[in-house]
Order: sequence, then C-alpha cells, then structure tokens
Amino acid sequence: MQTVTRRFFDTPVEFLKGVGPQRASLLNKELGIFTFGDLLQHYPFRYEDRTRFYKIAELTEAMPAVQLIVKITGKEMAGGGSKRRLVAYAEDDTGTMELVWFQGIRWVNEKLKTGIQYVVFGSPVRYGKKFSIAHPEFEPQTEANTKAGYLQPVYPLTEKLRVKYLDSKAISKLQRELLILANDKIRETLPGRILNRHKLVDKRTALINIHFPQSHDLLAKATHRLKFEELFYIQLRLLKLKLVRQEKSQGFTFNDATRLTRFYNEFLPFPLTDAQKRVIREIYTDMKSGKQMNRLLQGDVGSGKTIVAFVCMLIAVGGGAQCALMAPTEILAQQHYTNLKRFAGQMQIPIALLTGSTKKSERRTIHEGLQTGLLKILIGTHALIEEEVKFDKLGLAIIDEQHRFGVAQRSKLWKKNAGMLPHVLVMTATPIPRTLAMTLYGDLDVSVIDQLPAGRRPVKTIHKFDSHRLQVNGFLKEQMDQGRQVYIVYPLIDESEKLDLKHLMDGYESVCRAFPEVPVSIVHGKMKPEAKEYEMKRFVKGETKIMVATTVIEVGVDVPNASVMVIENAERFGLSQLHQLRGRVGRGAEQSYCILMTNFKLTAESKKRIETMVRTNNGFEIAEVDLQLRGPGDLMGTQQSGILDLLIADIGKDGKLLQTAREEAQAVLTDDPALSKPENNLIRNQVELFQSSTTNWSRIG
Ligand code: ADP
Ligand code: MG
Repeated sequence: MQTVTRRFFDTPVEFLKGVGPQRASLLNKELGIFTFGDLLQHYPFRYEDRTRFYKIAELTEAMPAVQLIVKITGKEMAGGGSKRRLVAYAEDDTGTMELVWFQGIRWVNEKLKTGIQYVVFGSPVRYGKKFSIAHPEFEPQTEANTKAGYLQPVYPLTEKLRVKYLDSKAISKLQRELLILANDKIRETLPGRILNRHKLVDKRTALINIHFPQSHDLLAKATHRLKFEELFYIQLRLLKLKLVRQEKSQGFTFNDATRLTRFYNEFLPFPLTDAQKRVIREIYTDMKSGKQMNRLLQGDVGSGKTIVAFVCMLIAVGGGAQCALMAPTEILAQQHYTNLKRFAGQMQIPIALLTGSTKKSERRTIHEGLQTGLLKILIGTHALIEEEVKFDKLGLAIIDEQHRFGVAQRSKLWKKNAGMLPHVLVMTATPIPRTLAMTLYGDLDVSVIDQLPAGRRPVKTIHKFDSHRLQVNGFLKEQMDQGRQVYIVYPLIDESEKLDLKHLMDGYESVCRAFPEVPVSIVHGKMKPEAKEYEMKRFVKGETKIMVATTVIEVGVDVPNASVMVIENAERFGLSQLHQLRGRVGRGAEQSYCILMTNFKLTAESKKRIETMVRTNNGFEIAEVDLQLRGPGDLMGTQQSGILDLLIADIGKDGKLLQTAREEAQAVLTDDPALSKPENNLIRNQVELFQSSTTNWSRIG
C-alpha cells in the first residue's frame, strides 16, 4: 500500500505490470532505471519506419531498414564452414530477392515456410543485380501487421538485456503499460505562455508520441518539445547560479587605470585590434565592479590573448594586488614569461617564473616575494597550485589553455586567497562552440576575440597524398631557399607508443636524407626537458631550418619565421588538434602553408576533417564541425562536467534550440530573478525539484 502514498512517478519500476523483481534489477543495473519516472524518460534513440511497405523493385542501396511483404518461394543451404548459410528466395509482384541467415539457421529453417507470405524487415544490400537482406525480422503476414503502419521505437539497450529478452519490443510494451497508468498523472512542466510562444505541444502529447509516434509530424513535435524543456531548465539553473554568484560574491574593486594608460602611451608594441579593445573593456568593467569576475576569454590561435592578459594584470597591479598566470606546459609558461618579462620590465613590475624545474634557492626567493607582496606577477605551470605557494593578495588568476586543467585544479588556484576570491580569467585557444560554451560555462561570462591582428595572411592549407612526397619536398626546399623554416609533425598520440616513436625517427632520418645540407631539429616527449629546450631554442634562433616534432609543439610556441607546417598522417589527428597545430604558422608577414599528408585510404570521418581544414581557417567553424563529428564528450575534457548527460537534446546538433531556450530562460529571470511571481510558480517548482533530487524523474513533474 506504500506505493499508493508515494508520488506516482517515484514508484519503483518493479511494480509495473510485466516487470517484477528480476527484470527490475536488470533495468536498475543496466540502464539506471529505478522508478516509473526513469522508465518514462528512457527515450528511444531512433525509430524504424514501419509506416509503409516497400516493393522489391523500389529497393536501393542507400536505404535504411525497410519492410516488405514477400512470398517465400524456396530455401537452400549454401556455402561451407564459416560461410555456411541459409538462403531463402522471396518474391513479390515486382521482382525477386534473397533472405540470408548465417546464425540460428536451424530455428529459422523450422519457422520459415515456403509458399507463405511474410512481412520482413531489414536493410537491403545489393549483390550483383539482386537485393538481399541478412538476418531480417520476419513474421507471417496477418491482417494486424499489414494494416496500421507505425514508427517503431528503438531503445538504448545492453547485451545483457537482450539476452534476457528485454529488447526494444519488450521495453515498448512496458512503456505502453506505464503510459496507460500515467495518462491522467502527467502534468505540464512549462507555463502556457512559453508553450504558445514556441509552439510547443503539451507534455502529455509529447511523452505519448516520443514512445508511440502517431505520425512523423507528431514525433518531430514531441522531440522538439522535450528537447526544449530539457535545455530550458538547464539554462535556467545555470543562469540562476550566475545571478546568485553575482549577488553574493564580492570582489576586489580595481579602478586605477593609470598603469594601463601609461603602457598604452609608451610601450604598446602594436595597435590593438578592435576585438582586443572590446574584450579589455569587458574585463575592466568586471574588475572595477566590486563583484568577483569569472570570465572565459575565447580567442583563436594567434588572436593575441597574451597582451590582453598583460593589460588585465596592469589593472590588478594598479589596485595593489598580485597576479598569477598558469599555463599547462613548461614550454608555454616559459614563453609567456619571456614575452611578459619585456612588458613588465618596461613598466617596472616585478615578475617571476615558477615551474617544476625552478631551482630551490630561486623558489625560496619567489615564495618570499609572494608573501611580502613585492612580487607582483607570477607565471608558471601547475607548480603554482602547490601548497607552499602563498600570495599576499592575489587579485587576478589567469589560466591559459584551460582545457588541459581539470576543474578541481583550476579552483585550487583561485582558492589561494584566504579572504576574497581573486578575479578569474580563463583563456582558451581552442574555440569552444558557442553552444557548448553556453552549456558548460553557462554560469561564466564569455568574451570572444573574434578578429586576428591586421595584416595576418590566412594560412593556405593543402591536402597531399603520401605519393606526392617528392613534390612536397620540392616545395619545402623552395620555401627554405627563401629563408623560411618548416615544421614537420608526426602523430604521437600516446608518447609511449613504440611504433609511433619509430615512425618519428624514420621520418627524421628520411628528412635528413632528403635535405642533406639543411640542419634539422627534433623534439619529442621522450626527450629530457633540457634536450627538448635546447632543440627548441636552436629552431627559434633559426640555427635549424626544419623542426621534426610531435604534437609537443601544439600549444603556444611562437616562431614567426616558420611559415610551413607539414602534418604527417594527418588522418590520425583530431580536428581541433590539426587547427591548433596550424596555428603555429601564419604568425609572420609571409604567406604560410599547412600541408596535410595522408595515405589514399581515408574513412568518411577523416575525409570530413581534412576537407574542413582545407576549407576554413575559422576556429569556431572548425570547433562546430568537430563537435558534430565527435560529440561533446570527447571535446577538451568536458567529460567531468556531468551537465552533458542529456536525456534527449544533443549539444552538437541542437545549437539553435539551445540558444532559443537560453534566451527564454534569461527573459524569465530578468523579469523575475527570484521566480516569485505567481505566473512562474510552475517553473519555480521544477527548479526546486531539481535541487532536491538528483534522480531524473523530477523532470516529469
Ligand atoms: P594567442 O591568442 O594564440 O595566445 P598571442 O597572444 O600569442 O596569441 O599572439 C600571437 C602573436 O600576435 C604574437 O606574436 C603577438 O605579439 C601578436 N599580436 C597580438 N596582438 C596583436 C595586434 N593587435 N597587432 C599585431 N600583432 C599582434
Ligand atoms: Mg597563447
């Protein structure tokens, strides 16, 4: 009787007719389904089109699974050994075809009778002139299965469930039972005005049609509605978090711009781009607001984030505070330090570098300088977040290339202040698609440098097959004769891969053979840091003309005279990685080139990656394609976020809807930040349900 008093959707799934303890335990373990609510939100991930029957003459190669009504005219065993198969010959009034089984032959042979009409379902493949379907579903034709066409849901399953006969059809049956019970209990979870404005179907219609689509049209509407709702409430929660944070978290007020003005007037090495100026204004507005800044700064490779970071440091130093800049690698930290030391020196601001290889005595001096507050700017690697590093007054924490740090690591840095939290600026060179940024960083403010410094010529990207190597080498020689330097990058996805290392060394040797009179550097992850550093420096100084390397050069390194990048086995790199690599060239005044080398055999996905690289230099566009190809889970360490565990929406594909949902959520909160108006009761209840529960059923209402 307990179940009666419980909220209906909280009822353990075990109590649904047709489930019981054993199946319930399977559903718990395999799919995380515990309650009625969980089950109802176990949405199909695709549908099989049973809305119509095809004729044999209509079959084409590109078809997904289709259903046909055919008569079996004969059967025979064919082949031997592993090729042994049962072939059934089938016909309708337009032609003939074959049905083939490699497994379960005996069972099929018993069931499948010649001379009888069957409804068969499967994906047709053409062999010669004839079509054939391997392992089709089949049922003797009846009035029922010939009549009402429908879209059959296919549910996410595991092998264990299939073995226990909890397949899509079984789940579908359970959904039907559940929907009959739930019919009058499904409550609307979005206010009428929002439903109207976005032409969304009601919740009940949506849930029924997501499991039992009455038509293509209603299925589309149901999907749309459920996606919108999911995205809307995610955005609402994120935006609300942001509101709360803005209200609560006090921040340093830095409003002294004299250093900034002086730097602009006396030392600025080049006019800032409009985008850089705009971003600096946005950041300055935050820093003088008295509220703690939490800002994500996005800018494509080479867009000039470093100088923006320095200008922000000037603002913090103007307020008597210290700054920290954390980079993911030693080389990158070093490079930042080298660049910023010049500016800091001009402005007479004490600056230091702290990495794993900083000497003990030097460390002590740095620690002292930090605690007395005399040392104003500290650049470094994750060495910055070690226990003994203590600041007097950390006013600004900047994190470069953020995706390489875990969330926890980052927050360690900004918790270094005993009192107030420092302003936080997270810089990323990997442009995150807007949609993803909104979901992941919905509670952060986002600034974008969407412009490259003037006079930058876009890198020309060319795809060449390995068979064109001689031609490519000829081109490299030409470029080097004109004084340019060349990167040749090999994939070393895992630095411990012996085979990759061998390819790299072979590559190095063949480069040396091809250009016997040219000095060549080599850098890879297996080398000692000092040796790496030494080789890098030789290349930076121009002593070597070719740098054979792995992706260790991916981030940050700046050699303006290196204008050609050859990427070997380009098909093995991810899109954003290719784009990062390409960002190493195109930094000087000369026309730069990126040559993607691949073999002939390319998967559809690698083809798409290469094509995208050749087509565009726009990091955001590339990030969007990357997101579509790989899904958000793979992207730059977003796995930890949890927020991407979406039930139905797809960040890669539903960008526009996400935007709409976010705008709607923003509008609601702007009008009623506390959600206290009566017309927002429904929304408030939903948000509270989310907060009080970690299970999903609350989304149903
Ligand atoms: P990223 O955004 O990739 O970190 P950097 O800050 O390293 O880019 O800048 C790339 C290069 O462009 C550097 O050599 C830098 O000095 C130069 N640069 C930055 N801003 C400008 C500008 N406004 N005009 C000309 N050159 C610039
Ligand atoms: Mg940079």
